Amino acid sequence: MSRQEPIQEMICISCPLGCHLSLYKNDKDELSVTGNKCARGIVYAEEEFYAPKRIVTCTCRAESRILPRLPVRTNASLPKEHINDLIKAAYAMTVKPPVACGQVLIEDFKGTGVNLIASMSLGDGH
Ligand code: SF4
Repeated sequence: MSRQEPIQEMICISCPLGCHLSLYKNDKDELSVTGNKCARGIVYAEEEFYAPKRIVTCTCRAESRILPRLPVRTNASLPKEHINDLIKAAYAMTVKPPVACGQVLIEDFKGTGVNLIASMSLGDGH
């Protein structure tokens, strides 16, 4: 009998050990994971397989002579399917100083509960 091939392989990034995870599905469509050294690896693999999310970092235009582009990021992981739209929205907007570090620039993007926030302050004098 041949050994079942994994449907996906990934590296767990939940801690520095970086376990190499293999994902399998049985005939009931149930997911199983091997290669994890702790239970967090299973949680990571299930989320990455069914609903992958990422922290997004990019920049947006700023009305500033010194810093024409302000670094911005999401305050939480955003579902992957919304990442391109968020980056487009960030690129399309211009922020006006003063901006405080952590200030919400886009709230609850597409109803995900994730905000786009400023990664640094930009004072009036800039
Ligand atoms: S499975 Fe556990 S030990 Fe392995 S990388 Fe993930 S968190 Fe670390």
